[in-house]
Amino acid sequence: MRPAILNPLFAKATVLPGVGTRTAAAVEHLAGPLVVHLLWHLPSGLIDRRHAPKVAEAEAGTTATLTLRIDRHRPSPDRRRPTKVLCSDETGFITLVFFHARGDWLQRSLPEGSVRVVSGRVERYGDELQMAHPDHIAPLDERDSVQTVEPVYPLTAGITAKPMTRAVRAALAKAPALPEWIEPRLVEARHWSAWKDALATAHAPESTADLEPDALARSRLAYDELLANQLALALVRRSARGGRGRAVAGDGRLRAKVEAALPFRLTGSQRQAADEIAADLARERRMLRLLQGDVGSGKTVVALLAMLVAVEAGAQAALMAPTELLAQQHGATLGGLLEGSGVSFALLTGRDKGREREATLTALAAGEIDILVGTHALFQKGVDFHDLALAVVDEQHRFGVHQRMMLARKGPAADLLVMTATPIPRSLVLTAYGDMDVSRIEGRLPGRGAVATRAMPLERLDEVAAAVGRARAAGAKVYWVCPLVEESETVDLAAATDRHEGLRQAFGERVALVHGRMKAAEKDAAMAAFAGDGADILVATTVVEVGVDVPAATVMIVEHAERFGLAQLHQLRGRVGRGEKPGTCLLLYAAPLGETARARIAILRETDDGFRIAEEDLRLRGAGELLGTRQSGMPEFHLADLAHHEELLAVARDDVRLVLERDPELESERGRALRTLLYLFERDMAVRYLRSG
Ligand code: ADP
Ligand code: MG
Repeated sequence: MRPAILNPLFAKATVLPGVGTRTAAAVEHLAGPLVVHLLWHLPSGLIDRRHAPKVAEAEAGTTATLTLRIDRHRPSPDRRRPTKVLCSDETGFITLVFFHARGDWLQRSLPEGSVRVVSGRVERYGDELQMAHPDHIAPLDERDSVQTVEPVYPLTAGITAKPMTRAVRAALAKAPALPEWIEPRLVEARHWSAWKDALATAHAPESTADLEPDALARSRLAYDELLANQLALALVRRSARGGRGRAVAGDGRLRAKVEAALPFRLTGSQRQAADEIAADLARERRMLRLLQGDVGSGKTVVALLAMLVAVEAGAQAALMAPTELLAQQHGATLGGLLEGSGVSFALLTGRDKGREREATLTALAAGEIDILVGTHALFQKGVDFHDLALAVVDEQHRFGVHQRMMLARKGPAADLLVMTATPIPRSLVLTAYGDMDVSRIEGRLPGRGAVATRAMPLERLDEVAAAVGRARAAGAKVYWVCPLVEESETVDLAAATDRHEGLRQAFGERVALVHGRMKAAEKDAAMAAFAGDGADILVATTVVEVGVDVPAATVMIVEHAERFGLAQLHQLRGRVGRGEKPGTCLLLYAAPLGETARARIAILRETDDGFRIAEEDLRLRGAGELLGTRQSGMPEFHLADLAHHEELLAVARDDVRLVLERDPELESERGRALRTLLYLFERDMAVRYLRSG
């Protein structure tokens, strides 16, 4: 259970004064639904209001806090012109300017003849010094609360600076002092302050240096988050590794047979990965390994060789895919590769029902099926293996750590191999998987056509359509991807449907559509049409929907490329150039391009090395956004920024290792503080892996 001390932070943000129903949606969108999320909403800038000159010394273009006598109101003569409030001090005159002032608010807050503290940006208008819509107007005795350095928070539609600042302040007021969870010597060496103080400091920047990721307060908070992440992963991993592993070793008989029947030769990189995995399987301890390889790098056959080790050892293996479609595709591929090998293999997806499903399950439990391929359906109740030795998860970031572990638990000592098609920098591997062992497949497969990448503004859609027409006439197959972003799902869906309609009008019936809202059977039909002879253009909404292998496809068009992450674009591009023919990837963007989008496109044009692209992307945008939209399933950090805090990540990992050696169940004083840390960062699940969780 969450320690009671944290409860105030886990109330809805709407309990805070100033977060009404109107602002709640904006606050939730920006920070999150709970009070604790507001703590993580750190300022992105500051306004220094400490400068308090006399009017004569006030400089145009700067922010100043002035003490003014209110001389006279000069009401707006018509709706288009502002109300002016003429003010002065003993050194000069300044005019406060208000457009669309409502009611008698101005009269009340700036009564003629009174003295007020006014803070805002000073401008010069002709000969006149002006301040339009001051940020603060206060009586003299509140001067100290105005003449400060004010944090500036990221905002969104639906909320302005003042209520946002007020909400964060209210959240900070609820933050309790918490026991220290960081190793005391580290706290000392880094000159960090206690959590609560660091939080207060991070929200009260005094200079731009305080906003930098390496500012003391910010780095301490980042460390907290990384520590929670590493600790949670270590606990999950320990439980997965827990119990005895088993040595899974084969005699190579099936592997040799299958390899001999392959229509190609393994590359050096594939061979090395396969060997690493086989060696790891043969070890007594439980395997937890990540197989990283770019789209189309040939991971499937490496996974198959791993599974054959299990079969050679007399046990079973399972391969789990993130979608129905991919499961089917893996099924078809493996079915082909296994032909004549004598290995028995079956497919199990959520769609299998009734007698057939029963038959598969019975055969599986009896050990008559050697390799089972499927979707989430694999780790449901009632799916019992005779002897599962290896679980392979082809995840493309769709599965959480816990689901992976659930599958591994189908076999009491089963080894786990996770395949990922998104090249991930080392530091991210660490945050998403803990220190899993990693095998990488690098380089392009032989005989693959190169892909030319071009970028164009969306306005040139007509030209693009004409080019598509020509390519199609020459026998090419074309992917046409429209973006799908959570917030505007309906709009985007409409855009995809419209595009589909438009292309149909231009090119006739042979244009298929696939999107996330379609029924599985409809999706499959559309995909099958595109993969087969039924369609030459496929309009699709997301990466996952096109996560299939159509070697004949040579053109990839991405609309609104600026809305995709670099890794996503790279993945999409990887869908073409899978056959011998060279491919084309056209990135259509809405002009003008922002700086990041421009850099992203430049990188894509420069290289097709997925690992390099991933590293560049991390540098460009930080980890949170690295993998594009939410579907990534990667941990999202609020406070840590891996582009800057990679070093802290390594420290956190080492620290976690030490702590768990000394205090495996987190029962010491520091151990209990660490439990609080896990709850603070909503890693409640991880606590369950402790004996008294
Ligand atoms: P990934 O799963 O890594 O995206 P796949 O395993 O689906 O890639 O491989 C992509 C294609 O390349 C498949 O059609 C596969 O048969 C083929 N392939 C795999 N290894 C080789 C190789 N060494 N030489 C040529 N083709 C290969
Ligand atoms: Mg694959």
